[in-house]
Amino acid sequence: MKYYSLNHNAPKVSFQEAVIQGLAPDKGLYFPERLTPIPTAFFQNIENYSNEEIAFQVIQQFVGDDIEEAALKQIITETLCFDFPTVKVEEHIYALELYHGPTMAFKDVGARFMSRCLAYFHKENIDSKNTVLVATSGDTGGAVASGFLGVTGVDVIILYPSGKVSDIQERQLTTLGQNITALEVNGVFDDCQDMVKKAFLDEELTHKNLTSANSINIARWLPQMFYFFFAYKQLKSANKPLLFSCPSGNFGNICAGILAKKLGLPIQHFVAATNVNDTVPQFLVAGNYNPKPSVATISNAMDVGNPSNFIRIQEMYDNNLVEFKKDFSSYSFTDAETYTTIKSIFDTTNYIAEPHGAVGYLGLKKEMKNHENCIGVFLETAHPIKFLDTVEPTLNIKLPIPSQIYSVLNKQKVSIKISTYEDLKLYLI
Ligand SMILES: *Cc1c(COP(=O)(O)O)cnc(C)c1O
Repeated sequence: MKYYSLNHNAPKVSFQEAVIQGLAPDKGLYFPERLTPIPTAFFQNIENYSNEEIAFQVIQQFVGDDIEEAALKQIITETLCFDFPTVKVEEHIYALELYHGPTMAFKDVGARFMSRCLAYFHKENIDSKNTVLVATSGDTGGAVASGFLGVTGVDVIILYPSGKVSDIQERQLTTLGQNITALEVNGVFDDCQDMVKKAFLDEELTHKNLTSANSINIARWLPQMFYFFFAYKQLKSANKPLLFSCPSGNFGNICAGILAKKLGLPIQHFVAATNVNDTVPQFLVAGNYNPKPSVATISNAMDVGNPSNFIRIQEMYDNNLVEFKKDFSSYSFTDAETYTTIKSIFDTTNYIAEPHGAVGYLGLKKEMKNHENCIGVFLETAHPIKFLDTVEPTLNIKLPIPSQIYSVLNKQKVSIKISTYEDLKLYLI
């Protein structure tokens, strides 16, 4: 499989090269040259396959010969070391819980998959050493830190906006040590993301073999397709069309869902639910794409003003807005609505949603009105404990602390403070 740059001004590359580079030399995101639909017999029998078998079937065409079959199967097994349950919340509405992994964030899957791909490539070429540079608005950092911890041949540098991630999130990315370094940026998430993008294009840093572990990297983005297949497997017997609502920030997750649909997964419609960072909902209304500086909200992992994966979604629809709108809706919600919804879901169903899941639920409910006979699924992208500052006072309850979180709570935070791109560069050199 070859990948081309969405800026169309760089050579095509292999899976391996795309993973190692992250972003193409012309600043474009990589996109697979071909999408081969999976045979329908696979979907008809999906309940007979294990999650590992499903994942292998889904990802193999994207990896091609770059990773041997047995090694790829091993990578998948190590990636999928936890469950992805669909939990019934109310009639026809399910939460797809993606937060049962080591850092209790859905990004565990992409981070674990990508780190193991890089480790495989390093083993093939022992001289190569990579530096993963990643900007986080919340959960990416912890998942990447944990996914890459102790992986040989890879150093990880995480940039996060000072004071804008929760205490637990901060501990998850600042307490690990070894090959993981946390840089605490005096700014917002977009500043972190801009610094990372700049570093990738800086010729004086070429020797560092910088790569990204945000969802711009195909090895982070592509495995997110798995969730949608796992949900389908669990809900198929109800024999109703499926509607998915993804709480969206950089739009990597929903973009993977759309890719799954392009491979043949029967999904009727997608909703991208956002907080007040509403660049995409506005695009659907007005038809022009106007990125804006991000605004801080209680669903901070979605505080993104210029969602990096949206261009991949547009590519899948050949920039045809009419076709796109048949499959896709997008709505934005305020923090006030999010608080009210966390409370009302709990009061009526006893289900505990955190802010991102609640935004997903809101988007789902809004779109369900147009799809009467559907089953609706909203993605729960983080465990409520990671947003306990919001969830506990809103519901007036005390959440038990899961063991994954407990283990980081008493560890010492270690971070390096930076303010400008020059600070980052100095650190890198
Ligand atoms: C990253 C993240 C999101 C947004 O996912 P995208 O793929 O960037 O749209 C939503 N919720 C949580 C908890 C996250 O960590």
